[in-house]
Amino acid sequence: MAQSIKTTEGRPTPTIEDYLAIIYVMERDEEEVIAARLAESLEVAPPTVTVTLKRMERDSWITTEQGKNIRLTDKGCEAARSVIRRHMLTEWMLARMLKVSWSRVHAEADQIEHAISDEMEIQMRTNLNDPQLCPHGNPLPGYEHVAAGWLPLTGVLPGEKVIIRRIHETAEDNNELLEFLEKNDIVPGALAEVTEVLTFNQTLSLQLGEQKVALGFPTAKYIFVEKVA
Ligand SMILES: [Zn+2]
Repeated sequence: MAQSIKTTEGRPTPTIEDYLAIIYVMERDEEEVIAARLAESLEVAPPTVTVTLKRMERDSWITTEQGKNIRLTDKGCEAARSVIRRHMLTEWMLARMLKVSWSRVHAEADQIEHAISDEMEIQMRTNLNDPQLCPHGNPLPGYEHVAAGWLPLTGVLPGEKVIIRRIHETAEDNNELLEFLEKNDIVPGALAEVTEVLTFNQTLSLQLGEQKVALGFPTAKYIFVEKVA
């Protein structure tokens, strides 16, 4: 007991850890980080977000510029990287050791990640061979360069062959979408060809082996691929 308290001491609450992780991803993607967007991503009422952000600013996890744009402090950034690492390592642990399905590990890890101590994290990293990406292809903090060359499916032309590399964190929060992708083998490592792009309809078609799958642009923009020469 004393041991586990010691190794998670000084950490923000689970709610604040969730906020920090989302802010980190938005900053990484060079998106505007404002309260309204956080409310949308977290599916939380705007007044609740405002209260939490005030608390986070008081405790120096974030700063707000012109009372609007949110930025992580060094301390906030460190805490965000820590919870994201714990989340991704938990996903791998669930997938590899407990054989939890690819579409379910994210939601399960959301519950467990906050309770993982620093010591446990180090053990997980070693035992899982220091992964650079989560099972969905998103980079662990510090490994962003691994994913830097991949482009969204919406940037691929008809006739081009690709390897599916990554399902963006935003899409990981949508269970139905993950189940659909898993069922259709649209998972990291899969080979696909873009056969049709219907811009007027905001859809594209993918051929994966014998299977043909239609995706809307709002989904396709969260699927990152590597072009095959
Ligand atoms: Zn993941």
